[in-house]
Amino acid sequence: MNMDLRELYQEIIIDHNKNPRNHRPMEDAAAFAHGFNPLCGDKLTVYLKLDKDSIAEASFVGCGCAISQASASLMTEALKGKTIAAADTLFENFHTMLTAEDSAVSMPEKLAVLAGVKAYPARVKCATLAWHTLHAALHKDRNTVSTE
Ligand code: ZN
Repeated sequence: MNMDLRELYQEIIIDHNKNPRNHRPMEDAAAFAHGFNPLCGDKLTVYLKLDKDSIAEASFVGCGCAISQASASLMTEALKGKTIAAADTLFENFHTMLTAEDSAVSMPEKLAVLAGVKAYPARVKCATLAWHTLHAALHKDRNTVSTE
């Protein structure tokens, strides 16, 4: 494994892949959506419990590469207690961080570890899958979203 890849799989990513947080189905979810990244084979279902316009709880189940699972785990942690508007902003900033030329967006430190994925364009969709799935769940588009 070269230096860059070692950076990519930083400790936080390895930890979240091995011990994913909020990794469970939610029977009484107020919203959920399925996501699929055919390029890599990553699959996720994101569940949300809402309290008025805030996210009371977020969980996910899925399988796939370390990046996709760690990203979903980090996302569910970051979402707890956020308003839907704040979650939408976070989704946009996360997407910008990984796709835009100038990616100087403010990002919680833990989510910022995934910025390393930007150097590997094929893996960007692994990292953003959870967020696209979240977006679908929040905005009632319950069809399966695909990164392709
Ligand atoms: Zn993947």
